[in-house]
Amino acid sequence: MRKTLLLIGAVVFASCCFGEMVQHRGIWLHPEQFKTRELADEWIGRVAAARLNAIYPLVWCKGGTGWYRSDLCPMGEGVPEGFDPLGYLIEAAHARHIDVHAWFVNGHYGEAKPGFVFSRHPDWELQGGGRGADSTWYDLGKPEVRDFERDVMLGCLKDYNLDGIHFDYIRYSGQVVCRCGHCQNEFSEKYGFAPRPKGEDTFPVLLAVGSNPLGKPTTAKVLATFDSGVPAITINQMGRGEAVLINWGAAMATCPAVDGFVRQMLARFGAGAKNTYQLNTTETAAKYRPEVQRAAHDWLAGMGSGTKIIDETSLQKIPADGTVVLVGQYLMGEETARWLEGFVGGGGHCLFIDGPVFAIKHDSLKRVVGLQQQARYFHGSTVIQPAPDQDVIKPGPPLDVEKERQRMAKWVEYRTWTVTELVRSVYRGAKKIKPGAQVSAAVFYKKASADGVCQDWYGWLREGCIDYVLPMAYTEDNEELAKAFAEWKAADPKMDRIIPGFSIYSRAGKGAVTRDIKLVDSQMAMGASNGARGNLFFCLRYLNDDLIGFLAGGRFAGAAKPYYPAKTAYDN
Ligand SMILES: [Zn+2]
Repeated sequence: MRKTLLLIGAVVFASCCFGEMVQHRGIWLHPEQFKTRELADEWIGRVAAARLNAIYPLVWCKGGTGWYRSDLCPMGEGVPEGFDPLGYLIEAAHARHIDVHAWFVNGHYGEAKPGFVFSRHPDWELQGGGRGADSTWYDLGKPEVRDFERDVMLGCLKDYNLDGIHFDYIRYSGQVVCRCGHCQNEFSEKYGFAPRPKGEDTFPVLLAVGSNPLGKPTTAKVLATFDSGVPAITINQMGRGEAVLINWGAAMATCPAVDGFVRQMLARFGAGAKNTYQLNTTETAAKYRPEVQRAAHDWLAGMGSGTKIIDETSLQKIPADGTVVLVGQYLMGEETARWLEGFVGGGGHCLFIDGPVFAIKHDSLKRVVGLQQQARYFHGSTVIQPAPDQDVIKPGPPLDVEKERQRMAKWVEYRTWTVTELVRSVYRGAKKIKPGAQVSAAVFYKKASADGVCQDWYGWLREGCIDYVLPMAYTEDNEELAKAFAEWKAADPKMDRIIPGFSIYSRAGKGAVTRDIKLVDSQMAMGASNGARGNLFFCLRYLNDDLIGFLAGGRFAGAAKPYYPAKTAYDN
């Protein structure tokens, strides 16, 4: 009997030694989980208990703040005097055979201005890159900015016993033209023409637009159209009031013609600081990110409207001839729609930016906007053309559309190149310092979205200037995820260099909670059936006891070494 048991023991031991499982079981974590010794001990314990084998701690963000020791950045707040968060975390993780990849936030500034970096280098900020909460970005077009970020990342790799370094926000907020002299000049020298056309402050303009528009006007007057003929801007008179619709997510882009039109409408409505409100309905707030509202708020405030963000509980504050701005209010209750109908009919004003595509099912809202249904979703460049029989938008000079399209395409090519240049220089440097270290990047999971922010990770994989990418597929919709796997496998059939990032949180009201375990499990199952070499989770703060028990007792039951791909062509 004893002999048999010993034999079984030996067999199990052998399979551990020679056939050890290789699987990437990673998780992102924030300084709140490791900025003190106690926090690091507690959370590394949880990581180990869930049998994860790779952590990605955020070490550089917030205006150039670090959570490690460096001459290039100040130490983050709340770190005890003399304590080295990353140094301690690496020790604690390695003691439990967990790899550590330092996570850097590259494009987004992550902090209110000026912060550490921009107080020293105000010219390193992207000019006209984004809006509001999302407005402050590094200008990766400037070589000195790229060199600085490279030095930050490589310095950390050199000074610490890391298993890898990791890019995040390695992109811009869109394809907007940087107005700084360097980017304007470098582009002009490279391509032989300027990046921005003359007359950009009047319609017609060519814009990169992603839109889920409303169509089929009933009483609305069309002021401008998209290429497809679908209304781009409408105005609807109803009773004594007016409702204007800008039929795409205009608040998130930068276009002087659009800004001018919004200013014109606010003036037409008599909208000032005291009578203008930005309504974020409870239905929309529950489903969509609040950042969009704050960004739009800052944008409108910049135009002097001074809107206050409210929900339905404050509707009675709005004066009868006041203005309600509705940005991205895709959802709203029927009662709210009826209130808007009464408000506009009685002399109020509404400015819709990005149409209420789902709420349009309410008849009262159809009457407010004067359009009756959703039109087809589209994204890409389109001309916004003033309609001929209207006198609200004063047309500017005509547009050479083909020429403008080429200009736009070349700009995107140029901006994409600047991002890729940073990836290349970090990759080259990292392999010189530590040939065995991995260089990875968190990326947009859909190719079209990645292209839209100049993040050519498909190109990085082809070229070999990144070891692997981690698409952030945080969707709860498994049909969407299935489409993503199909896209990824078209680029990397064996999923050698694409390791999916799954979410373990779900939005709930204004906060977030740990995601339903069945959903987490179903997404991991999709990963397994599609040949993924593991996955990352976002993020550690949602790793609760139930999830730990589920992972350690199920899909991560056996020990595993983290998967890494073979060397890229660049390494040789
Ligand atoms: Zn620039």
